[in-house]
Amino acid sequence: MEPAELARSMLGWYDKHRRVLPWRALPGKTADPYRVWLSEIMLQQTTVATVGPYFEEFLRRWPTVADLAAADLDAVLHAWAGLGYYARARNLHKCAKTVAEQHGGVFPDNEEQLRQLPGIGAYTAAAVAAIAFDRRATVLDGNVERVMSRLFAVDEPLPGVKPKLRALADTITPDRRPGDYAQAVMDLGATVCIPRRPRCGQCPWHDACAARAAGIAETLPRKAAKAEKPIRRGMAFWLINPEGSVLLRRRPESGLLGGMIEVPSSDWLERAAPGLGAVQEQAPVEAAWRMLPGQVRHTFTHFHLELGLAAARFGPKDGDGWKRAEGIWVPVDRLSEHAIPTVMRKVVRHALGSV
Ligand code: SF4
Repeated sequence: MEPAELARSMLGWYDKHRRVLPWRALPGKTADPYRVWLSEIMLQQTTVATVGPYFEEFLRRWPTVADLAAADLDAVLHAWAGLGYYARARNLHKCAKTVAEQHGGVFPDNEEQLRQLPGIGAYTAAAVAAIAFDRRATVLDGNVERVMSRLFAVDEPLPGVKPKLRALADTITPDRRPGDYAQAVMDLGATVCIPRRPRCGQCPWHDACAARAAGIAETLPRKAAKAEKPIRRGMAFWLINPEGSVLLRRRPESGLLGGMIEVPSSDWLERAAPGLGAVQEQAPVEAAWRMLPGQVRHTFTHFHLELGLAAARFGPKDGDGWKRAEGIWVPVDRLSEHAIPTVMRKVVRHALGSV
């Protein structure tokens, strides 16, 4: 099939089988760039089902990009908790401010200018340009990579083969309805050209697909073997003052979980599980620390984390050494009012279940 014919058959399929999504405009309606951008940021490495309620809640609280720009960063991070990757939430807020302050509250309508905005990479710029502004842009997410690798029977492994897949995808991207076309290929990957047992009988590209013809569709795309994730270990310190409040602190602005609230902890290093003696000098204050049973485990993108938990409680007769601790004291029943990342929620749950 010629590229133009491939695009035409894909658009015909989309008109009949498009998914209904909260951020997607109805057929014939113009998409709202704010909704498209918000959904694309939320959807990175997360599923449609997970994002749905978050998307609705963000829109309810901040119906426009100007509202989001004016929001308190902590409130945004709090609303984001559970979607992971807090750097994205911080960039989301930064991007909203930039659009509000430097672009008069209107998103730029082309890939080049969109890419200048905080948190917008090649993929998101192409997706917003295509979906919100119907610009011709080649959108390459995991679904599109899978579809292209199969349509053209590309058997070199990801991620190295991405540029080739992008170039192939670009040959089909049409000038007419590029936004619908981008969403069509993503929908095909999500509902028909699925990782296992692709439903080739329902596919508009059935006759053109080289991998289907060769009987290798399910083996594509190939992926380079992943390196094992290392395990880092550390200790979290659960400190209670005489009023029954727990010590929290804010992480540095840059780096992992930047600016988020945490239960104070030691460095996280690749090593055997540290005993109290090895990390005591990183405790927030001198105290009668004791180990709690068990560990908290969490997996980040690049490593697994195992945290031991040390607890100490200052009673009314234990002096005021606790006042030397740096951070904020939060009553245990008000912890939920703070933007605490998932790993630290696990620490809190573990501590509350053990002390
Ligand atoms: Fe995917 Fe099958 Fe369609 Fe090929 S024919 S693009 S493998 S669903």
